[in-house]
Amino acid sequence: VLSRVKDHGLLHTAGFIGGKWADVASDKSTFEVRNPATGAVIATMPRMRADETRAAIAAAHAVLPQWRLRPAKERAAVLRRWHDLIQEHKADIAAIMTLECGKPTAEALGEIASGAASVDWFAGEAVRVCGDVLEPPTRDRRMLVLKQPVGVVGAITPWNFPMSMITRKVAPALAAGCTVVLKPAELTPLTAVALAELAERAGLPDGCLNIVMGDAAAIDMFYTGHELVSSDTVRKLGFTGSTAVGRLLASGAGNTVKRISLELGGNAPVIVFEDADVELAAKGIVASALRNAGQTCICANRVFVHDKVYGKVAEAVTSLTAKLKVGDGSETGVTIGPLITPAALEKVTGHVADAVSKGAKLLFGGAKPELPQPLAGGNFFVPTVIAEATIDMRCFKEETFGPLIPLFRFQSDEEAVLLANTTEYGLAAYFYTRDLARAWRVAEELEFGMIGLNEVAITSEVAPFGGVKASGLGREQSKYGLAEFLDIKYVCMGLG
Ligand code: ADP
Repeated sequence: VLSRVKDHGLLHTAGFIGGKWADVASDKSTFEVRNPATGAVIATMPRMRADETRAAIAAAHAVLPQWRLRPAKERAAVLRRWHDLIQEHKADIAAIMTLECGKPTAEALGEIASGAASVDWFAGEAVRVCGDVLEPPTRDRRMLVLKQPVGVVGAITPWNFPMSMITRKVAPALAAGCTVVLKPAELTPLTAVALAELAERAGLPDGCLNIVMGDAAAIDMFYTGHELVSSDTVRKLGFTGSTAVGRLLASGAGNTVKRISLELGGNAPVIVFEDADVELAAKGIVASALRNAGQTCICANRVFVHDKVYGKVAEAVTSLTAKLKVGDGSETGVTIGPLITPAALEKVTGHVADAVSKGAKLLFGGAKPELPQPLAGGNFFVPTVIAEATIDMRCFKEETFGPLIPLFRFQSDEEAVLLANTTEYGLAAYFYTRDLARAWRVAEELEFGMIGLNEVAITSEVAPFGGVKASGLGREQSKYGLAEFLDIKYVCMGLG
């Protein structure tokens, strides 16, 4: 099944520790990676545990003095070569990504472009790290601020962006002079190993980027996740995933007082005010809600539409949704791939059934599509639009993480902002208006880390990505994302 990949050197069924491919776990156990479009097994990987994680941490620690002391310009050059190799191999990486996570090829290529852009951007930032010289209160001393790499970094990433969640952690870490132990999601480890292979070819020294894989569960202390959290050597943990796991990691990290960044769940609102450009809003809603079949943490999850434009918006959203094509993401023209697992399919099915039982109107979709073999074994769901959604429904309270667009109604600005903020999450929020005063007011009142005003494509390597409330801590991408990997050291020089 991986025959579409031309460069076979990218296909390791192994972790990567201290520059060596580790294809057998210490207890020889394995796990399987499946294609979510068919359910077929595409690879068998070593199920690593604490031993391997400790070895990876030791390898990252051993090379740290050498890597951090390399001139930033040289670290930047390695990152640039990595970026160039990623670009050269984008067709292969896209094939791997679509096979293991299901997203359509065009979306895979989009993710690769954005991941590569992070690598390039942090290569640029590496040489711009600088401290401060402070004005001292007395003349007998000088006061300086140095910025130094935090040390060994643990990175734990999810399956929905098998590449870009990695690059936005690994690139700034390496740029800052840190070394990394990465634990990619068990569902999508193949993209991660392909990236490591390219990093090695780019000249990244052995041990600077290590990969361990296998179950992460923290309850059993022999697993990878627990080891990364409890290690004293790991000085920073970067995590993207569910809020439940983020909470566990945050409390675990307290024991070793390590720095953490957490990018957790979202429950993004879109507000369409009565003065909005309806066509633009409808396009934005569909693009945001259905990206990666609804499986991103910034996907529009709740759409609030002003009474006066409700009918028009519902019609435009339904007609755009009806044009989408569900199928195997590697086929040309497919715009909606499968959901990642049967459990994900169950969740969206449950949300639709719950909404309909509470009075929502099904405008489009609502079921599994009829697809020919071998796709019958895939986790497909027709993108779905429902009207007259209300706040007692699960789709208001929970992140659906599937292709569902629920349309809620509102009458006033105050009501819209209140509805939008009524969630424990605070990652991304979007709204559509042409009124400048309303734009400012609403942007300030929404309790979210990122706001899209008349725009849903907000992710960029130059802008801070992250949330407030139960959506997380810290920021990725941008100069703020680099700062997360740098410690501040104050030096006071007495002049005698
Ligand atoms: P998702 O719902 O996106 O799969 P998870 O939070 O379950 O989110 O998974 C995100 C990442 O966190 C994956 O790499 C997963 O293996 C890892 N993970 C899951 N449970 C734990 C845990 N208890 N400790 C550490 N990492 C974990």
